[in-house]
Amino acid sequence: MEKSQDPYAPQGMPSYPPPPPPAYPPQQAYPPQQAYPPQQGYPPPNYSSNVAPPYGAPQAYPPLSNPPNSAPMHPLEIRPVQQNIIIASVAPVQTIYGPIPTLAYCSSCNLNVTTRTEAYVGCMVWLMFLVFYLLMPCISCIPFCVMSWYDVAHYCPKCSRRLGTFVLV
Ligand SMILES: [Zn+2]
Repeated sequence: MEKSQDPYAPQGMPSYPPPPPPAYPPQQAYPPQQAYPPQQGYPPPNYSSNVAPPYGAPQAYPPLSNPPNSAPMHPLEIRPVQQNIIIASVAPVQTIYGPIPTLAYCSSCNLNVTTRTEAYVGCMVWLMFLVFYLLMPCISCIPFCVMSWYDVAHYCPKCSRRLGTFVLV
C-alpha cells in the first residue's frame, strides 16, 4: 500500500489531468444557466417600468411639502414661548417648605430636586431672645439652642440656588 502511495504522489501529477475532464462534465450541467438569458430579458422591461413611476412620484412630493413646511415654521416659533409657559406651570408645584428637606422645582436646573436645608437664626430666635432677656436675662441664650425655633433655608443640591425658606414668624 505504502509503495503505491509513494508513487501516487509523483503519479499524482499525471493523475491530476484525468480528474479535470470528469469535473468539466458537471460544469456542463451549469448550462441550465443558459436559462438565465431568458431572465435577462425579464429585468430590462421591469427596470424601465419600475424606475419611471417612482421618479415621477417623489418629484411631485418635494415641491408640495416645501411650501407648506416653510409657512408653518413661523407659527412654530411661537411654540417655544408656549413651552416656557408650561415650564412655569410645572414650577408652581407650590412646594410648601418645612423644616425638613422636601421635593421642590429648581428653575435653574429645570428639575425637581430634594432640597438641601440649612438652619439659620431668624426672627423667631431673636424674638424669643428678647423675651427671655427681658424676663430672665441669665437664660436669654436658650433660644439659640432650640433648633426648632430656627428658620430653614432650602437650597438646590445641584446649583445651590436658594429655592425657598421656612420661617416661623
Ligand atoms: Zn438647581
